[in-house]
Amino acid sequence: MTRDFALPGTPHRYARDRAFDIRHYRIGVRLDVPNRAIDATCAIDAAPIATARRWLELDAVELDVRAVRAGGRALDFRNDGRTLRVDLGEPAAPGQPFCVDIDYAARPRRGLYFVGPDDGYPNKPAQVWTQGQDQDSRYWFPCFDQPHEKATSEVIATVPRGWFALSNGALVDRRSDGDGDTFHWRFDVPHSCYLITLAAGDFAEIDDECDGIAVRYYVQRGREDDCRRALSRTPEMVRLFSDRFGVRYPYASYSQVFVADFIFGGMENTTATTLTDTVLYDERAALDFDVDALVAHELAHQWFGDLLTCRDWGQGWLNEGFATYAEYVWREHAEGRDAAALELDEWAEQYFREDASRYRRPIATNVYDEPIDVFDHHLYEKGGRVLHMLRQVLGDDAFWASIAHYLRKHQTSAVETRDLARAIEDATGRVLDWFFDQWVLAGAGHPELKVAHRWDADARVAEVVVDQTHKTDDKTPLFRLPTRVRFRVDGRDIDFDVEVSERRHTFYFALAAEPAQAIFDPGRHLLAKIDEDKPLPAWIDQLAAATEGIDRIAAARRLGKLGGHQAEAALIDALDADPFWGVRAAAADALGALRTPTARDALIRAADATQHPKARRGVVRALGAFRRDEAAAEALARIVETGDPSYFVEAEACLALGKTRSPRAPAVLRAALARDSFRDVIRQHAYRGLAEANDDTALDLLLAGTDYGRDPHGRRAAIGAAAQLAAGRRDRDARRVRERAEELLADRDFRVQAAAVEAVATLADPASIPALRDLADRDLDGRLKRRAREIIRDIEEGRAAGERVDALASAVDELRADLAALRARVDRAGTRGKPAPRRRATGGKKTARPRRDA
Ligand SMILES: [Zn+2]
Repeated sequence: MTRDFALPGTPHRYARDRAFDIRHYRIGVRLDVPNRAIDATCAIDAAPIATARRWLELDAVELDVRAVRAGGRALDFRNDGRTLRVDLGEPAAPGQPFCVDIDYAARPRRGLYFVGPDDGYPNKPAQVWTQGQDQDSRYWFPCFDQPHEKATSEVIATVPRGWFALSNGALVDRRSDGDGDTFHWRFDVPHSCYLITLAAGDFAEIDDECDGIAVRYYVQRGREDDCRRALSRTPEMVRLFSDRFGVRYPYASYSQVFVADFIFGGMENTTATTLTDTVLYDERAALDFDVDALVAHELAHQWFGDLLTCRDWGQGWLNEGFATYAEYVWREHAEGRDAAALELDEWAEQYFREDASRYRRPIATNVYDEPIDVFDHHLYEKGGRVLHMLRQVLGDDAFWASIAHYLRKHQTSAVETRDLARAIEDATGRVLDWFFDQWVLAGAGHPELKVAHRWDADARVAEVVVDQTHKTDDKTPLFRLPTRVRFRVDGRDIDFDVEVSERRHTFYFALAAEPAQAIFDPGRHLLAKIDEDKPLPAWIDQLAAATEGIDRIAAARRLGKLGGHQAEAALIDALDADPFWGVRAAAADALGALRTPTARDALIRAADATQHPKARRGVVRALGAFRRDEAAAEALARIVETGDPSYFVEAEACLALGKTRSPRAPAVLRAALARDSFRDVIRQHAYRGLAEANDDTALDLLLAGTDYGRDPHGRRAAIGAAAQLAAGRRDRDARRVRERAEELLADRDFRVQAAAVEAVATLADPASIPALRDLADRDLDGRLKRRAREIIRDIEEGRAAGERVDALASAVDELRADLAALRARVDRAGTRGKPAPRRRATGGKKTARPRRDA
């Protein structure tokens, strides 16, 4: 069953009326770093749109407004800490521009962040950065904080001497004065105010270039090599996207800056993207890690999000779906279609998990509490997959022509989904309203398909029966699905276009001979759960010889479920010899699922023999499936003890070793806890491994792993592992874990707070509800608030469900007692030749419910 997205009391949200056209923001800001405060002036050029207006209303949260002036004349104003109302003195006429100057000071709690060294992290660099999306710019300058309002901007920042300040557009002036350095940035293309940025610190600058576009990278001094390693493919991405999108990168320069403690992965501020410094990686990590997806994502936003902007957050997929899809476009270009298809597969899994465990909603919605609520796997990953399906429906040429037209037609404007549909219609004549209705605007969920293949040897006809087996309701429709069916005959692929639209849809294909393979939706482009039924030899041939890697992967997964000697042999062949590492990893997983001694021995051999680190990671993971198997544990322990060139293989071996529950696991994993690694990945997996090994004595180690001052990645894993170990228990240890998780709900690190929220969810103890309520009421981060409210609901419903189960259990006990009594009576009656009296099956008395939180 899928849940509703909207929590009780959730309102409808729409873009706000624009009384004024805001034309320009000029923000002068002086940073007071020791006091984490700003002293600022914001000059706003605006004009009423349709009627004369005397009062200008601006979003301004917790800004201490000291004066408002117009042409040197002081203006009256009202400031309630949320909204600033400026009395223009007399009504301004429609279309008649005016300028107001607002002097203010602030110690922002959102929007603008001061980070720096503290007792836990003495080496953290001192920096200041902003994060406006989705409606936090109002915490550092007065503005009309809505994406459908676009204006040009200037930021004039005075920062501590020796620092650098990055903002949007061009650096037009730079000077030193009494107590600091001042940087004057100007951007002449209208953009939404959530994209106005400031990032300041002692940065090294690295200059690059792409066809006349200045490309720059900024990073904390000393990490220049890591920075180049992460970003050096940026110019190639700029070129690729300019070419594919059909519109050249729209601005004169593109900068990226790495900052500490960033609360997202990245933020696409116009011409000046901010990135978290936690993705900077060393040479060893580069063996099997990169941040190309993040870099491509933020770069693509410069077109989708910045040049064109969703008109309200309910249409946010027009930003995030495109930026996510650009990750695929880059991967397809850089590594080929097989590797890129794995990303699509991962997105589908993320979306399916969210759909199953959290809620189901249309991608575009106006029902949410805070805009951040919609920034989920529906918006990003499902949005990206929908664009990929759109590309299949239109074909490459028509798809990219439509995108180019959409960009040109709406540049510097705000857009909604129907603008994209109309642009496609303009460019191709195709009316795809049904597509957007079913996937974005009205429909929610996804098709679940059962596909049966049959070969009629006499008629030489292949029959394909497709059933849409999912439950249809007001949310989830019967789908219309253009796709293909592929047959392999005499070593050649033959494709047929089909369109599934019925509940049961049958297709017939005349073929010269029986196909060795029959694949519905080859390449797995549909966002659907597909259960294909075909003979074992067809799966085996598909694994050995399907053209697309993702189809061979699908075959490996199915053969792992079917089992048997032939499947096992085919999987071992693929493990040893498939040209694509993704198939070798999938074959390893499938062999893990078989859990036979032969499969295990093949995996142990492959752990040594497999060269590609991502395939080797799959092999190691698969060995974790062999619970209480000392041969598998021995192989894994050897990898943990001797190490691996890849951080990730070594880390995976820790987790897998824990999963075997081998008696040797705890000692080996404790030793691994001493190792530092990129993002603390080895310690993270060792913590999880200890939880998987059910090692109760590790609890103190896990709790110590959450200490402030340790790597935040490890801290997150440690609280998660502790919760996993204590889940379902209400003893003293479980209480210690719960109390620590509740403490961490208020941690200084956002990422640790988020992990603590999930730990509390894992423990599912009603005693945590007050702490969750407090978080939902008081925290300023919408993501934490929303999750806290969901978990409260889940715990309360879980408790209700638990109570129902308890009540049922006692009713069943009574029934059993009655039945036993009845049987005894019947037996006695039989001996006496007299019928037994009828009795009510259940008694009226209630037994006391055991308390779960005792
Ligand atoms: Zn994004």
